[in-house]
Amino acid sequence: MNLADTEIVLGILNKSGYSPTQAIDEADVVLLNTCSVREHAEEKIHQRLSVIRKRTSDKPELVVGVLGCMAERLRSNLMDRHNVDIVVGPDEYRKLPDLVDGALAGSQGIGVRLSRTETYDDIIPFRSEGISAWLSVMRGCDKFCTFCIVPFTRGRERSRTLISVVAEVEQLLEQGFREFTLLGQNVNSYMDNGRDFADLLSAVAGVDSKLRVRFTTSHPQDLSDKLIDSIASHDNLCKYIHLPVQSGSTRVLEAMNRTYTREHYLQLVRKIRARIPGVALSTDIISGFPTETENEHKETLSLMEEVRYDGAYMFKYSPREGTPAYRLGDDVPEEVKARRLGEIISLQQKVSGEVNQSLVGDSLEVMVDGPSKKSELQLSGRTDTNKTVVFQAGPYKPGDMVSVKIERATSATLFGKVGCSLN
Ligand code: SAH
Ligand code: SF4
Repeated sequence: MNLADTEIVLGILNKSGYSPTQAIDEADVVLLNTCSVREHAEEKIHQRLSVIRKRTSDKPELVVGVLGCMAERLRSNLMDRHNVDIVVGPDEYRKLPDLVDGALAGSQGIGVRLSRTETYDDIIPFRSEGISAWLSVMRGCDKFCTFCIVPFTRGRERSRTLISVVAEVEQLLEQGFREFTLLGQNVNSYMDNGRDFADLLSAVAGVDSKLRVRFTTSHPQDLSDKLIDSIASHDNLCKYIHLPVQSGSTRVLEAMNRTYTREHYLQLVRKIRARIPGVALSTDIISGFPTETENEHKETLSLMEEVRYDGAYMFKYSPREGTPAYRLGDDVPEEVKARRLGEIISLQQKVSGEVNQSLVGDSLEVMVDGPSKKSELQLSGRTDTNKTVVFQAGPYKPGDMVSVKIERATSATLFGKVGCSLN
């Protein structure tokens, strides 16, 4: 989400005559786009801000700004603590050119009002070249999970128009993009004049059969049958759903205000698997939510064994001031949280390894991304189930589709040989 927001910010600034540089020593303005979801993310930004100010101490005129959720949450405190020039929350990026101009002329500026309507619908994001594009289709969140700061830092839910999303995809396709990820804190809440997220997905999928469409994130409470049917019925809607469960215990889920039970979630998983054969599922899990008992933690492990996710993002609970859970205290000791998280991670690694191992011998359709991380002699790409596949380099360019026969697998990567080009 922040990557997509950064592209929107660059789009706004670019229109006002600013251009990006990769070298901080060349920069007149440094803007950090930030996340407040966990304490650790915020700590990294505090450190980064100290380093930037130290490293550029010979350049006092350098403008430093903080954007995103930390700006929204900490506001002018950031100016006091780090001598930051501008602080701009997620809904005020249109003010950036003025605020940057003001800061270059020596005045501090702040914009942290949340909006009920801002979607940056008309802004053309400044994207780096490639085949994959992020498109933010709705902003904000009204779910108020008790642990989560997002509804406070990103405000109320609102959606872009379907027509503007489709038009952007058409343009990007012409520019060579092939894979589109539709983004929102809860895409299932998407609504544009009676057209819901399933309608949006079908419209984007209908632009061209060659493009691939992904989306994230779906809340398990309102993932509709219509959405499942849309995914099942379009070949170019990727068979991959990120479906954060957070906990396997109904009691903890209730304390988290997730509004579904363990049984509802498992039932949903069964329904998805029955209607979309071969679908890959991933999840988010929090260990050590306040009051979580050892048995409730075991329920999370047993749910993971039952679902057998392809992948998971796993976190220790991090208390966020101002959220309802903050008032419950943080009563699971750090070492217990860490041990539980360790158990969750090793179970997931084992399952991911087994799931990937079961694909050895299969021929999978892979969209080529580019050279692999480890060697120029190898290419890497992804399956529609979002698995990374590494194979020997050949006459293929990013965006090409190839069939790869899988020869071996780790918990993170599949390795194979190209059987044929599918272009
Ligand atoms: N809107 C998305 C999630 C956004 S935050 C959704 O509902 O799926 C991404 C993930 O961060 C969440 O799914 C949750 O697992 C984790 N998270 C959010 N708040 C957290 C907190 N206070 N401590 C630890 N993890 C948290
Ligand atoms: Fe946070 Fe819950 Fe909204 Fe996701 S759905 S952003 S976890 S409040």
